[in-house]
This record gives sequence, C-alpha cells and structure tokens, in this order.
Amino acid sequence: MADTISSDRRSEIMSHIRSKNTSIELMVRRCLFHMGYRYRVNYKDLPGKPDIVFTKKKLAVFIHGCYWHGHGCQSRYAHISKSNQTYWGPKIERTKQRDQQHIEELEAQGWKVVVLWECQIRDHFEETMAQLKDIL
Ligand SMILES: [Zn+2]
Repeated sequence: MADTISSDRRSEIMSHIRSKNTSIELMVRRCLFHMGYRYRVNYKDLPGKPDIVFTKKKLAVFIHGCYWHGHGCQSRYAHISKSNQTYWGPKIERTKQRDQQHIEELEAQGWKVVVLWECQIRDHFEETMAQLKDIL
C-alpha cells in the first residue's frame, strides 16, 4: 500500500490531533470552570473515556475534532487534504463506529451524552456553551 504522506509529517499530524489536552477541550473546560461547574476529565470508568463528565448529573461530554472523528461538516477543520483522506479514511470510519458504540453503551447505562464538535466550539463558542449550560 502506498504511503501518501511522509512518516515525519504523519507523526506531526498524529501528535497534533491526538494530544490529550487539545485546545478546544481546554476552551470548553475553562469556560465551564468559570461558570462554576465542577467535573471530571478523561473519565476512564466509562465507555469511550468521555472528555468531561458530570457524575451527579450523569452527563458525559465528548469533544470531537471534525477531521479525526469524521464530522462530515463543511468546516475548514474537517479536511486536511485529499491524499490524507485516502490514507486516514478507513481509520476515521472505524473511529466513527466506535464513537457511536460508546454513545449507545453510555445511554444504555442511563447516561446523557453530548457531543461537541470542533467547528461548533471554534466558530460558535458562546452559543455552544449556552446550549451546554441549558442541558446542565
Ligand atoms: Zn464539524
């Protein structure tokens, strides 16, 4: 199978996308903290390790990058390039399936699940946080 991007470039992309504390996650966490909410992060005891968890309210929040989690939106965050799409396509598809499975498992356990997308957070931050506050 042809490798369409150099391994240097790939690890650069990977570390960028995979980093534990992505800036969008921090944006949301800081905002919630300032609003007075207290929460758990990267909660390992739940399916999919939700990014933010409100244990008493049984609310799990996932913060997903548009590209890596295959949002399928038209935002500029959703695509890197055609060749990368070919390379990562199957992996993104599996990630999407896993995400969906985690949501179903959480809901089956009585959790409410909210998925916040990168494009919402970056382009409509205040509305996104207001919506989350309504749910909380
Ligand atoms: Zn998106």
